[in-house]
Amino acid sequence: MSNIHVLDQITIDKIAAGEVIERPASVVKELVENAIDAGSGSVTVEIKEGGISYMRIADNGCGIARDDVQNAFLRHSTSKIRAAEDLEHIASLGFRGEALSSIAAVSQVEMITKTKEQLLGTRYQIAGGKEEELEDTGASDGTTFLIRQLFYNVPARRKFLKTPITEASHVGDLMTRLALSHPEISFQFINNGQSRLHTSGNGNLKDVIYHVYGREITANLIPLEYKNNGLSLSGYIGAPLISRGNRNFENYFINGRYVKSNIIYRAIEDAYKDFSMQHKFPFTVFHITIDGEHVDVNVHPTKMELRFNNQQEVYNTLYEAIDSALHGRELIPKVTLDE
Ligand code: ADP
Ligand code: MG
Repeated sequence: MSNIHVLDQITIDKIAAGEVIERPASVVKELVENAIDAGSGSVTVEIKEGGISYMRIADNGCGIARDDVQNAFLRHSTSKIRAAEDLEHIASLGFRGEALSSIAAVSQVEMITKTKEQLLGTRYQIAGGKEEELEDTGASDGTTFLIRQLFYNVPARRKFLKTPITEASHVGDLMTRLALSHPEISFQFINNGQSRLHTSGNGNLKDVIYHVYGREITANLIPLEYKNNGLSLSGYIGAPLISRGNRNFENYFINGRYVKSNIIYRAIEDAYKDFSMQHKFPFTVFHITIDGEHVDVNVHPTKMELRFNNQQEVYNTLYEAIDSALHGRELIPKVTLDE
C-alpha cells in the first residue's frame, strides 16, 4: 500500500488559508482589495468584536454574475489574469485567486452580489469550504460579504488572535491606509456600531490626510511630485518638525498597493537625516507609480513584499526627489511660456 496521497481540497484550502489569512485585518484587506478591483466608488467595512465574530464588507462595484459565483470560491480562480505573461502588466490588486477560497475555508461566509446586467442578485453561503446555499435574491448592484466566526474550525489559529480591541485597531490602521491609497473611493469604517472613518471619495489626497491626521499635520505638508524614467511620485511629505516616534507614519503606495519595502524606508529616512532629530521618523503619504516590468509583486501570497529590478535606481530617485522637496528645490525647472 502506498503511504503518499494527495490531500483533499478542503484540507488544501485550509492549509493555504494559513498563508493569506492571519487575522480579521487580513480578511478585510483581501475583500476591500477585491472591492477596489471591482471598480467600486464606495466601500463600507463594519466589524464587531474586533472582526472575530462579525465582519461586513459592502461595495458598489461590478458584482459577480450568478454563473461565476461558485467558481469565484475555487482556489486559483481569478478573472484578473489568464496566463503567466500577464504577471508583467498587473493593473489589479488581486491575481492569485486565493482569497475567497481561503476565507471560506476558515470562516462562515455569506455573500450577496449583483451585476448591473442581472435583475436579481445571488446569495451564496459557504462555511468551512462546504457550500451551503445558492439562491436568487433581491439586491442592489455590488457585493456584500458577511464573514462570521473567523477560524471557528481552526482552534489553533483562533487561539492566537489578540483581544478584540487589538484586532479592531489592526483593521482601523488598515482602513486608514486603504483610504490614503485610494482618495477617489469613499471608505467607511464602523467598529461596534460607531463610525470611525468616513472619507468623501472626492479624489483629493490632502482631504483624506486632513480627515485621518488632522489640522497640525495637514498644515505642515510639502508636496512631492516627480516624474522620470518610468517612475513617478505624487503626494506629500511632512515638514521635519512633524516627525514622529515610529515608522507608522511613513505611508507610501506602489501602483496603488500598500507594501513594505526596506529600500524605500531607507531612501526616505536617509533624505531626512540632516533635518530630523535622531530616533524620529518622517511623516509621508505618497504614491509611487512604476512600470509593471520593473517590479515583481508576486513574491509572497499577501503581496506585502515586492522586488524591484533596479533597487539602486529606485533608491536614488526617491532620495533625490525627497531631498529636493525638503530643500525647496525644483527638480525639473518649470518652463512658463507666457512670461
Ligand atoms: P483574485 O482577487 O486574486 O482574483 P479572489 O479569490 O480574491 O482572487 O477573488 C476571486 C474572483 O472573484 C475575482 O477574480 C473576481 O472576479 C471575483 N470577486 C471577488 N470579490 C469581488 C467583488 N467584491 N466584486 C466583484 N467581483 C469579485
Ligand atoms: Mg482578491
